[in-house]
Amino acid sequence: MNSAFKWYLRIVGSLTANTLGIIDRYTPEHRKFLSSGFVCAGCHATLINSRLMADVKCYGQDGVEVPIWKARAKARYFVCPKCSHRWEPRRVHEKRVV
Ligand SMILES: [Zn+2]
Repeated sequence: MNSAFKWYLRIVGSLTANTLGIIDRYTPEHRKFLSSGFVCAGCHATLINSRLMADVKCYGQDGVEVPIWKARAKARYFVCPKCSHRWEPRRVHEKRVV
């Protein structure tokens, strides 16, 4: 991966972190992940796939893996596929009684 592309990712990531991130109540750790250009806080690998989506594993509330495109609605935590570093992308404020 060339450095210009990583630079581009940092721009996109920090824009996302500072706009959508505020609306979506991203955690500080997830904002850092975005604004660093999708760099894992654990192993410093750049986690991006060929479709320019975050190349992380997403898990839902019940511990079941969810597809990345459902992450916004369903993910409770992300896991780095390389070092298993785990973090929460969003604060969950609402506690609904099921
Ligand atoms: Zn990692």
